[in-house]
Amino acid sequence: GSEKILVKDKSDRATNEQVLDPRTRLILFKMIGRGVVERIDGCVSTGKEANVYHAISPEGKHIALKIFKTSILVFKDRDRYVTGEFRFKGGYARSNPRKMVRLWAEKELRNLRRMHSAGVSVPEAIEVRENVLVMDFVGQDEWQASPRLKDADLSPDEVPALYIEIVCILRAIFFRCRLVHADFSEYNILYHDGHLWVIDVSQSVEHEHPAAFDFLRADIQNAEDFFARRGVQTLGLRRTFNLVTRDKLVADREETDADVAAEVRRLLEEEPAPADTANQGQSADGQQKQADPSASDEAVFAQAYIPRTLDQVYDVERDVARVLRGEGSDLIYADLTGVANAQKSHDERTAHEGAQEASTGDQAEEISDD
Ligand code: ADP
Ligand code: MG
Repeated sequence: GSEKILVKDKSDRATNEQVLDPRTRLILFKMIGRGVVERIDGCVSTGKEANVYHAISPEGKHIALKIFKTSILVFKDRDRYVTGEFRFKGGYARSNPRKMVRLWAEKELRNLRRMHSAGVSVPEAIEVRENVLVMDFVGQDEWQASPRLKDADLSPDEVPALYIEIVCILRAIFFRCRLVHADFSEYNILYHDGHLWVIDVSQSVEHEHPAAFDFLRADIQNAEDFFARRGVQTLGLRRTFNLVTRDKLVADREETDADVAAEVRRLLEEEPAPADTANQGQSADGQQKQADPSASDEAVFAQAYIPRTLDQVYDVERDVARVLRGEGSDLIYADLTGVANAQKSHDERTAHEGAQEASTGDQAEEISDD
C-alpha cells in the first residue's frame, strides 16, 4: 500500500502527502519495481518547488530523490527562466502543471549531466520520471546530507581557496557548459569533502538566453558577497564578470580549472580588489576606506543593462564609432558583443592597408561586414 512510501518522520506527513500525490506514488512504486530505489528513508529538505528525500538503492547506494511539486502556484515565478529559452520552445504548456513540472525535472537532469561532463562537481543524475529526479546523494557520512555553503563550518585558511574554486565553477558553467546557473548562491552550493558542489540547476539557462547576463551578474554578486563577508580579497563584480565571460584563456588546448585559478590569482595580485558594495565602508582594521573610483564603477556595472547580442544594443553605430575614436573604454558590453573587436579589426585593417586610408567613412558598416 501507499504507506510503504511514506517517509519515517511523522512530522513531515502533511508535506509528504501534499507532494506525494497518487501519480507520484505510482512513479515511486515503479522505481522500486525496476530496482532503482529500494526504500525512501527521510526527508532532507522541503522547499517551495520541490522536496528532497534520502533513499537507498537495492545495492545499498545512497541516492537523493528530488520530487517537484505539481501545484500550479509554484510556476508563476518560473516564467522569466522559460521566456527566451529555446529548449522550452513548443514544449511549455502552461495549462498543464504535470507537463510543466516534468520539463523542469528533465531540464535539471540535462543540466546536471552537462555540468558533470564538463567536470563541474554536481550530483550525478541517475534518471528522471515525470516529476521525480533521481541523483547521487551528496552526503557527509552516509546518512547526513553535506551542509549548504551557507551553513558550512569553514576554517579561515580554506576560505580564499574556496573563493577561487567558486570563480572556476562560474567560469566552467558559463564557458564549458554554455549555461548560467541563475540561482547560484550559498544556498545552492554544498560543502562536501572540502570542496564546492553545485545543486539546484532546474532553472539554469542557456548562455544565449536574453536575460543570461542579468542572471550571471546576480550569480556572481552572490558569490562575491558571500566571500567578501568572510574577509576574502575578491575580484569584484566587474572583473569576475569579464573573466567568466571572456574568450578562451589558453590558445592551444582545452582550458582547465587550473588555468582559471591561475588567472584569478594573477588578477588578484595585479591590483587591489575594487571596493564593491560588499567591501565598501569599513575595512577589516576598522579604518574608513579612501574613496575608491573603482567603487563607483562597480556600482554602475551592478546596475547597468547588459545586452546579450548586438541586436539588443540601443545604438550600435554610435557605440562602434565611439570605440573607433578610442572612447569606448566605458562601454560595459563592448567585450561581449564584439563591439570592442571593432577597434582591433579596425587597427589591423588600417595597419594592413598601409594606413593610407583614413577610414573616416561609415565605420559601422565596415564593422558589420565582419
Ligand atoms: P529547492 O531549493 O528547489 O528546494 P534544491 O535542489 O536546492 O531544491 O534542494 C534542496 C535541498 O536539498 C538542498 O539545499 C540540499 O540540502 C538538499 N539536496 C538537494 N540535492 C541533494 C543531493 N543530491 N544530495 C544531498 N542533498 C541534496
Ligand atoms: Mg535550492
